[in-house]
Amino acid sequence: MVRKILKFGEPVLEQPANPITDFGTPELQELIGDMWETMYAAKGVGLAAPQIGLSKRISIIDISVGEDESKKIVIINPEITSAEGKQTGEEGCLSIPGFREPVTRASKVTVRAQNERGEPIEFAGEELLARALQHEIDHLNGTLFINHLSTLKRDIIRRKIKKLQKAGEWE
Ligand SMILES: [Zn+2]
Repeated sequence: MVRKILKFGEPVLEQPANPITDFGTPELQELIGDMWETMYAAKGVGLAAPQIGLSKRISIIDISVGEDESKKIVIINPEITSAEGKQTGEEGCLSIPGFREPVTRASKVTVRAQNERGEPIEFAGEELLARALQHEIDHLNGTLFINHLSTLKRDIIRRKIKKLQKAGEWE
């Protein structure tokens, strides 16, 4: 089932999410299935549970956007265990549609997480995957990409969003 993606302004997007403790349940499988459907319907490369209103530490990523099954990643209770290098590139977010800005992030990260069965997984990502991992793990900590921008840029975006909200164009 495609779920509604919440937009900037919803408090759940800026709150740290709660760890997942129940693994291998039908509910978790259903949630993951819904997250894939929702992300692909929105043509995104990643989605975190708070974006569909759930304060849970789970994110999904597919930098191939549905082209390559082997690129699908589910990370539960993830943590970045090492980060190196720097990369700057345009970033957007399904919860902040219409806004894209350059964001500087680590160019390579190692992530430790759990899979849907609760088993520990660890992997490294570079370039776009590293960017997506950092963006999606940020979501689980209540951090959005605009928090990485200068105060000036962030305020401009906030003001534009306020206007859209007033006009009823930010639902
Ligand atoms: Zn996002």
